[in-house]
Amino acid sequence: MSNNIIKCPFCAEVIQADEDKCKFCEEDLSASINEKVNTSKMGLMKKCPSCKEEIKQDANKCKHCGEIQDTLESKKQIQQQKHESAKEEGKKAWANWWSWLIGIVAIWFLLGSDWYWDLFF
Ligand SMILES: [Zn+2]
Ligand SMILES: [Zn+2]
Repeated sequence: MSNNIIKCPFCAEVIQADEDKCKFCEEDLSASINEKVNTSKMGLMKKCPSCKEEIKQDANKCKHCGEIQDTLESKKQIQQQKHESAKEEGKKAWANWWSWLIGIVAIWFLLGSDWYWDLFF
């Protein structure tokens, strides 16, 4: 067994590092193997801006300090939350409006009903 054994980046089978082609999935390895492994590694990790620890590129939250990360995903989430709370506010406003309306209608109905006037006239 030589030391030049690597995992195929495409099918994850163990193959010889000097092979041009994976014998399992037949992907061309000659040029791309090191490049692919490197870029995928670098693409996956980044530094947390607040504690400088390495975290996953797509992490929404730093696992070291809990800092919310500025990813597309987290932005979407924050926007969603804003949207949700705006919706909630809207609902509350409507609920308020409706309870006022019902209150006013109830008073108006009460004032307009005969028994009320019969008490006085
Ligand atoms: Zn393969
Ligand atoms: Zn952090």
